[in-house]
Amino acid sequence: MRLHHEYKRAVLLSVFLSIIIAAAAVVYLYDPSKNGFYPECLFYSLTGLYCPGCGSTRAVHQLLHGNIAAAFKLNSLVVSLLPFLVFGAIAEVGVVAVQRHGQRRGVYRFVWLIPVAIVLFGILRNIPLEPFTYLRPR
Ligand SMILES: [Zn+2]
Repeated sequence: MRLHHEYKRAVLLSVFLSIIIAAAAVVYLYDPSKNGFYPECLFYSLTGLYCPGCGSTRAVHQLLHGNIAAAFKLNSLVVSLLPFLVFGAIAEVGVVAVQRHGQRRGVYRFVWLIPVAIVLFGILRNIPLEPFTYLRPR
């Protein structure tokens, strides 16, 4: 039963990673600022306000091309969180591989900070004053 659970977990993780890699390939090859097939941000088109994710697809495109500064200008939150997401993914693969689930608790101790940072970023980037306007995609 336990082995079956682990197997399911590994399959889900593989599917998830495959989707991430395929999406990264599309974003790498087709610049979101020049290709119209990317979906427009629903929140932005409805409200005219920037959501925490606005500019993130363009930021990931710049990151994948090694342009960290350009990526940071488009969405500093995504650029700041990405190392943690990559670390989390590697840790998760490690936990599954080594089967030490007890160690997961330590890795995720500060995970609650992520939604807090996302909400805060979404609020701050809509304040129409410097320096908050630097948080907008530019
Ligand atoms: Zn948005």
